[in-house]
Amino acid sequence: MILPPHLSIRDGHLFIGEHDTVDLAGRFGTPLYVTDENRIRENYRRLADALSARYPKVQVLYAAKANGNLAILRILAGMGAGADVFSAGELDLALQAGMRPEVLLFNGSSKSPRDLALAVATDVRVSVDSLDELSQLNAAAASAGKTVEIAFRVNPAIEVPTHPKIATGLATSKFGIPAGQVLDAYREALACSNVRPVGIHCHIGSQILEVEPFARETAVLIDLARDLADIGVPLEFIDIGGGLGVPYRRGIDRAPTPEEYADAVMPVFTAGVKELGIEPALWVEPGRSLVGDSTILLTRVNSVKEAHRTFANVDAGFNLLARPAMYDSYHEVVAANRADSPAEREYTIAGPICETGDLLAKDRKLPALSAGDLIAVLDAGAYGFAMSSQYNGRPRCPEALVRDGDVALMRRAETIDDLITTMTTPAWQEE
Ligand SMILES: *Cc1c(COP(=O)(O)O)cnc(C)c1O
Repeated sequence: MILPPHLSIRDGHLFIGEHDTVDLAGRFGTPLYVTDENRIRENYRRLADALSARYPKVQVLYAAKANGNLAILRILAGMGAGADVFSAGELDLALQAGMRPEVLLFNGSSKSPRDLALAVATDVRVSVDSLDELSQLNAAAASAGKTVEIAFRVNPAIEVPTHPKIATGLATSKFGIPAGQVLDAYREALACSNVRPVGIHCHIGSQILEVEPFARETAVLIDLARDLADIGVPLEFIDIGGGLGVPYRRGIDRAPTPEEYADAVMPVFTAGVKELGIEPALWVEPGRSLVGDSTILLTRVNSVKEAHRTFANVDAGFNLLARPAMYDSYHEVVAANRADSPAEREYTIAGPICETGDLLAKDRKLPALSAGDLIAVLDAGAYGFAMSSQYNGRPRCPEALVRDGDVALMRRAETIDDLITTMTTPAWQEE
């Protein structure tokens, strides 16, 4: 296994940045998510630089659903990012983090009347997913006496090599307006009194480890931009979404570098807009590729059991990291307190949840483990804590952030009280 540059092994212990994971687990307890701020900065800078070097008007919109901690959003806001937000909660967090409304795109295929009113009130751009939504948004804007700037989410009908649950641009997907219908949608938007179409939006899926689908997607959007120029839509941005993958199988998977991504997408984009004589901003919406590798999940071994395979039973399961159970995802695991011991046995890392599928990792060669040992699950920064739950009556764990020599909690541990605080007793149960 090849560790990413912010992780290292020193005297047998796994370090994240300058911090010994054994010390962090001792200080904050386990389970514990730990994020390296510098890694997020590097990931952001490298992508933003690769794109900006090839076109002057580039805006990164961080996909807030990947990791919505306010501290993470603040880091990215400080670097100039806007955000792709999918809910009132994500919108509020992005604004609280200091992101400007004009670089927030309110996405979603099922927005409620409240969502639409909020989008109008906060002056963000909206990615409209249906004609029904268009007329509702127009009415909401009219009743507030405002004009809302919109894009349509286009379904490009593109097959992508990824898990079917995270392919979003298939012809059969619930997202977006089919490419063949979208021109009519723009015509309708042009006729709306309180909506101004200024963008195109697309997102083809997640954990994509090839660049070619992004180039094809961009070509579809350029074709659409040509049609939009004909009907008089003044395009201010073309948003190609996110989806660049992370090499979860370290040393085996290969993820395109930001430069390779830019080399695939930008020639299609720049040639297209030049031919059309327009200069819209290029928007991208990375989530996973910015935060995925920045974070580890530390979990302690409660017990070891020899059965048909050898289980290391740990204190974190799919309540805290749903990806292995939900998508059959692979995450590398490291024995964090004996990281330079020889890997001599095969272990299946099993969580504490009352479900057979609660396995974080299957059949991994690790040093001999015993109760009390510390396991680090790598690349847990995207769709990790963000998808956690309180299933089985388990409070969620804390999240720590490290930067150089500093460490701080960016979220405290939940308590048993947090489990019950939102519950109320029906009157007929009261004595
Ligand atoms: C999830 C999502 C993203 C981010 O996807 P990643 O694979 O994490 O980069 C971007 N845009 C939209 C609309 C999304 O739903």
